[in-house]
Amino acid sequence: MSYQLPDAHGHFGRFGGSFVAETLVHALEALRDAYARYRDDPEFQREYAYELEHFVGRPSPVYHARRWSERLGGAQIWFKREDLNHTGAHKVNNCIGQALLARRMGKQRIIAETGAGQHGVATATVAARYGMPCVVYMGAEDVRRQASNVYRMKLLGAEVVPVESGSRTLKDALNEAMRDWVTHVEDTFYIIGTVAGPHPYPQMVRDFQTIIGRECREQMPRDAGRQPDYVLASVGGGSNAIGIFHPYIEEASVQLIGIEAAGEGLGSGRHAASLNCGVVGVLHGNRTYLLQDEHGQIMPTHSISAGLDYPGVGPEHAWLKESGRARYVGITDAEALAAYHDCCHIEGIIPALESAHAIAQAIKMAPELSADTIILVNLSGRGDKDMHTVAEHSGITL
Ligand SMILES: *Cc1c(COP(=O)(O)O)cnc(C)c1O
Repeated sequence: MSYQLPDAHGHFGRFGGSFVAETLVHALEALRDAYARYRDDPEFQREYAYELEHFVGRPSPVYHARRWSERLGGAQIWFKREDLNHTGAHKVNNCIGQALLARRMGKQRIIAETGAGQHGVATATVAARYGMPCVVYMGAEDVRRQASNVYRMKLLGAEVVPVESGSRTLKDALNEAMRDWVTHVEDTFYIIGTVAGPHPYPQMVRDFQTIIGRECREQMPRDAGRQPDYVLASVGGGSNAIGIFHPYIEEASVQLIGIEAAGEGLGSGRHAASLNCGVVGVLHGNRTYLLQDEHGQIMPTHSISAGLDYPGVGPEHAWLKESGRARYVGITDAEALAAYHDCCHIEGIIPALESAHAIAQAIKMAPELSADTIILVNLSGRGDKDMHTVAEHSGITL
């Protein structure tokens, strides 16, 4: 079986593709051509590598969670420390790649949309770094809920536009960003934050995030003695997961497990587990698994973790699930919260609530496995951003 996907039209098996308005076809073709030209260009790759080292602080280390592994009495748990990146998560890896491409395409202006604000902050950061004006669309409800990220974006010089239409959340912000792009397509580059959207975004974002897995392949033999038996990562849109999975796909002995937000339980109707519970449909320009009702309406989702609270998933994950190369499981809000607290006091690391979902799956599995088994978990981001949410669940007001 070949995993050299997608095909020339952006298909991962029957998933992916490009479903967009006529007005965007030309812009996507230009992006595809530019990306095809620069992805193997040594000068582009050199600048990308330089930025990752000097601005982001890469490589991020792998870390043996030794105390926790001993306590669980089974497999050895290792973390890939994406939380140590500048801006505190993996998202910046992708934003830098797209910003460098925007500059080579002669685009003057950056736009993005954001839900919880993490992608907005990463985009505003790189826009400041390269001196480009930046507009971030955000649902008005999210602007209210995520005031500190809104202020962070403003400090970084971005304009944050609250979107008042619809449910005033991420999907409305997405529509508004699309509208902006159609109107200003000549001078504007739209930075998408995960492996979703129309072709070539799922492929391009994946390629930029594979730095995570490529580093692990070098680091694990050196630091852990060999490659891992299991690689685990949380799945919102799927960018941190595909970033660590992809370099391991052709290595059949490595099991890949994605962790979706099971919210209040997979049977509760209050979750964001599109691969576990969804059906195939089209959303945001590609065909994939979605949480939608029998009339094709997108259903409201829930997760304690804002970054996992998305009704779709990147098309390559849909394909990895269907081909059987990766498995996808759910972790509930309560399980993720417990892992968050344990990670703080056993390992001295405050993880993002998204990452806590992947960690929770590792600590479920570890006691059943032998002491020479290695589980590598992508610790996709740091968790200071989630302190208010966590405190609230403990009945504490900060
Ligand atoms: C945004 C985010 C995620 C979820 O997005 P993916 O595209 O699925 O990676 C996971 N972890 C952190 C820390 C995030 O900020």
